[in-house]
Amino acid sequence: MKVKRILAALLICALLAAVMLPVGAAESEAILFCQPDFISGMDVSSVLSLERSGVRFYDTNGREEDLFKILSDNGVNYIRVRVWNNPYNADGKGYGGGNNDVAAAAEIGARAARYGMKLLVDFHYSDFWADPQKQKAPKAWENYSLEEKITALKAFTRDALQTIQQAGAAIGMVQIGNETTTGIAGEHDFDAMARLFNAGSAAVRAFSPDILVALHFTNPERAGHVKYLADSLNRCHVDYDVFATSYYPFWHGSLDNLTAVLRYVADTYGKYVMVAETSYPYTLADTDGFQNTVNENDNSTGENLLWDFTPEGQAQEVRAVMSAVNAVGEKGLGVFYWEGAWVSVGDMTGRGGSDYTAQWLANSQKWESYGSGWASSFSSEYDPDDAGRYYGGSAVDNQTFFDARGQALPSLRVFTAVTGRRLGDANNDGAVTIDDATQVQKIIAELVSADALDNRASDVNGDGRVTIDDVTVLQQYLADYPLPYPVNQPL
Ligand code: CA
Repeated sequence: MKVKRILAALLICALLAAVMLPVGAAESEAILFCQPDFISGMDVSSVLSLERSGVRFYDTNGREEDLFKILSDNGVNYIRVRVWNNPYNADGKGYGGGNNDVAAAAEIGARAARYGMKLLVDFHYSDFWADPQKQKAPKAWENYSLEEKITALKAFTRDALQTIQQAGAAIGMVQIGNETTTGIAGEHDFDAMARLFNAGSAAVRAFSPDILVALHFTNPERAGHVKYLADSLNRCHVDYDVFATSYYPFWHGSLDNLTAVLRYVADTYGKYVMVAETSYPYTLADTDGFQNTVNENDNSTGENLLWDFTPEGQAQEVRAVMSAVNAVGEKGLGVFYWEGAWVSVGDMTGRGGSDYTAQWLANSQKWESYGSGWASSFSSEYDPDDAGRYYGGSAVDNQTFFDARGQALPSLRVFTAVTGRRLGDANNDGAVTIDDATQVQKIIAELVSADALDNRASDVNGDGRVTIDDVTVLQQYLADYPLPYPVNQPL
């Protein structure tokens, strides 16, 4: 039945691709994904620094839980983590932004794997933030020639993947660079960049043939430049699987354009395409005393902001971006939400006068000590003009799926809502039947594998476990017994 459903989905996807239906369907509607393993991913790179700063996370029922369990229970199936070569100064003081070195990535990957989530390793090949404005080589590579960088990048990639996998992570994808639209590791000539991409790619291929190699660019609103990048990668024989882009609706053009540029790459070169970063504010308020990227004074957002700054609007944005990637067809691999848990380390809401100052100082100390802000003062040695001047807290605490106290927002439910999965539909064929009772028995006996959503759909009595009691409840439901559980309702 599952095969039939996938075939039906492919047929509808072919039609969708042909007529290009408008995206942004009603919020309650599920998305019929063309890619059977569509990625509902999230980047939570700052989590370890946040936890060290005292942040706790609470699930949609208000229970304190491991962030990774909360995300997995709510349909997130992939975690993305950034890696900086050495985000520390000579005294061992972290630059901030989560202080994400290889060890941090390994710990995050292992925790994701514990809850059945794969890992996308996002190598910046820099000691701090890499984006279109900054592609600075790591300190250790500062005086390297291109040939020396190629050797170093290959070795660093191999060693890092080994460390991360040995920690227990399930590495599914590796990004060779971050937002490498204008350069990578200090190289800006495209032919040099291509050689570095291929060095990273070769390291991944040698490590495991099962890991997808992704390249990540941004500014999809510049359709001509996206085409130039894809054409140049082809011209330079760069070996990769996934063409990824950032898509922030306040900067990056329309969703129709996003679909069109991704479709060009998928159709012309047969590559997978995805959105490696997106986000949207659930409020314009700041909660940690450090100004947010999108705020009351600068929501200079243009024509593309179709959604309110509410949790509902945030969920609608996620659904719309997923639909836009899905509209590409089978090559539309998925979407990662960027830093969906980078909350405040101390809630500033409603504070004034000396109370405000005291809390701000406490927050500031945490950003400095644990790296839980976007940058610490220690980053000035490496990035004096930006991070060294404007260091501070979270610039996206209004774009998370958790409020300033770590409580999950209702918008987190979007990741299960888009699947259209219903409680009791254990075998995911779209209906609740006697086959599901059989499937639950198979899951209990471990005769079939079950992911987080399968388990959630199977736990019909909602006690957090899949047991024989769930089989009984399903049988009662099918025999029309009145039940206190929302069987056959969306998860
Ligand atoms: Ca902030």
